[in-house]
Amino acid sequence: VVVIGGAVSVVIAIVAGWFLARRALIPIQVSWEKQQQFIADASHELRTPLTAIMVNLERLFRHPDHTIEQESEKIMIGMQEAKRLSKLVADLLTLARSDSNELQIMSKRIRLDEVVQKCTQVFTQLAIVKEISLETNIEGPLEIAGDEERLHQLLVILLDNALKYTNKGGSIYVSCKKDGNRVAILVKDSGIGISKENIPYLFDRFFRVDKMRSRSTEGTGLGLSIAKWIVDAHHGKIHVSSEEGIGTSFLVTLPVK
Ligand code: ADP
Repeated sequence: VVVIGGAVSVVIAIVAGWFLARRALIPIQVSWEKQQQFIADASHELRTPLTAIMVNLERLFRHPDHTIEQESEKIMIGMQEAKRLSKLVADLLTLARSDSNELQIMSKRIRLDEVVQKCTQVFTQLAIVKEISLETNIEGPLEIAGDEERLHQLLVILLDNALKYTNKGGSIYVSCKKDGNRVAILVKDSGIGISKENIPYLFDRFFRVDKMRSRSTEGTGLGLSIAKWIVDAHHGKIHVSSEEGIGTSFLVTLPVK
């Protein structure tokens, strides 16, 4: 009985280990239609900055006698669009590699409070420039199993959005604390907010609330889909609550183990 019991325990341990190891990698299945749609949307989005660069280069080429000062606007637009293109390509690569499971989460024991602290420090400087107050409440030490680089990227996406969609004089609040066997990261802003009907689409690739208004702010419409992928790969949850004209909160909860 002891031998059979031992053998059964070993088999259960092996099966559970195999299952957990597979779960740790979570292969996210992407349908053929979704991949086609992704390629079509990506091509469309890539064409916009490329066209702007080409048009401005052609205009510059037509006036070889003009000085740099005279053509500074065209040069500036070209540079801005090149920057946008570069960000778009980087985001597209992240998503394409995550779809093909090429990009995996390097799970190690990390200090989440330190990751949040490091990231908010950078954004404090950027907030000062935009005259936005940034307050933090980070509890520590908070140790979790996760990928430091990806969690840093997640915070950059949420903080970058909070800063982008909050006007001068507004405020941002970031907290990070333990909540039972999970950790909760809250990024709350007093920005322009998001209407109820747009909230279900926020994590869709290329979704931007108001294409015309968003066009004036830098962005690709891919940030939140990357954020969702990072949270899912950590077996966590991301929740958004928002009110137009009042502000937006993103709450991320991650398991400690
Ligand atoms: P983007 O690069 O356009 O910011 P995201 O995927 O990060 O793309 O966000 C998708 C859209 O969700 C944004 O274009 C914006 O309209 C809206 N959004 C995201 N975060 C916020 C926020 N904190 N406040 C208001 N709107 C937001």
